[in-house]
Amino acid sequence: MQIVEETKEITSFEDLRKLRLADEGYIVITDTTRPALVHKLNARCINTDSFNLKVTINQGKQGRYYWVDSVATAARKYGAKRCKTCKPEVHLVLSDTFDS
Ligand SMILES: [Zn+2]
Repeated sequence: MQIVEETKEITSFEDLRKLRLADEGYIVITDTTRPALVHKLNARCINTDSFNLKVTINQGKQGRYYWVDSVATAARKYGAKRCKTCKPEVHLVLSDTFDS
């Protein structure tokens, strides 16, 4: 799968569901009262109740959800810190991925 965009806002449950199925990238949750955090795509700390509250009920007034292609993008675009609960890794292509 070729990723063209490096980030996009998640505006519906359907978006969230599709992104999680695709299983690529990370999710940034911004909050007007706290620093933004980057989470693993399928982390349990991303729950549908919170999503519903922020996105559907508050319509992004207190924070938003974004998909990002990497932890680096999350930091650069949103100043996001890594979530201490799900601990998203810095996405690196390591040479030892292919053990010889
Ligand atoms: Zn998390």
